[in-house]
Order: sequence, then C-alpha cells, then structure tokens
Amino acid sequence: MATYDMEEGVRYACQRCGNCCRWHGEVPVTDSEIAKIADFLGMELYEFIAEYTELRINRAGLTLIDKPDGPEHECIFLDGIDCRIQEVKPGQCAGFPNEWNFPGWKEKCEAKPVRGNGIA
Ligand code: SF4
Repeated sequence: MATYDMEEGVRYACQRCGNCCRWHGEVPVTDSEIAKIADFLGMELYEFIAEYTELRINRAGLTLIDKPDGPEHECIFLDGIDCRIQEVKPGQCAGFPNEWNFPGWKEKCEAKPVRGNGIA
C-alpha cells in the first residue's frame, strides 16, 4: 500500500481521535482476522460473519460494517473513542497512517510524529 507525506525515521503515534473509524470506505477482513475477532468476542464464526460483516463491493471477501443506526460511516466497533476490538483489530486499521495512507491524510488524522527517541 502507498504512503504519502512521511519523513524518513518518523512514525506517527495514534491520538485516538477516531476519525479513521468514521470515514467512508470498506474495512476488509481476512479469514484469520475474522477468526481472531470472533474468538475475542466469544462468538461462533458464522454468528460473527452474519452480525458484523458484509460482502465487499468487489465481491472478493468480507468487510466490517458501519453502525446501521449510528452516525454515517461510523465503524460498528467504535464505542465513543474506544475500539471494541482494539486488541485484534484488522490490519487495515492497525496500519494507518504508518503502513498506508492517502494524499492529504494529515488534514484528517491527529496522529503525532514520533522520532526514534520517542520524543514527539
Ligand atoms: S485518524 Fe489518526 S489519530 Fe485519529 S484514530 Fe485514526 S490513526 Fe489515530
């Protein structure tokens, strides 16, 4: 995946603003991610898939769903500023913004730059 506007030796520390949990778009989940999340929630696989996922637009797998009756585009697992599946969240969520991002991402994400010595 591509990254934009990143500096050599700098990582960005999430500030839990939750903005990336409220963007339009899919959150693809792999079979192993689905199994981990279902297990974390104490659910059977089929039960988790039926309740929390839907077919991706390209029909090539599953995506987590948004809250059906919550604010538009808000992830089903966002609870205030907390992620209900933080410990087992999908790679797409864990990888933003350091492993992938998009042009202009800093206007929407509040993550803070952290150098190797940990000083922001
Ligand atoms: S938008 Fe950035 S700072 Fe906000 S929750 Fe997502 S990764 Fe963290």
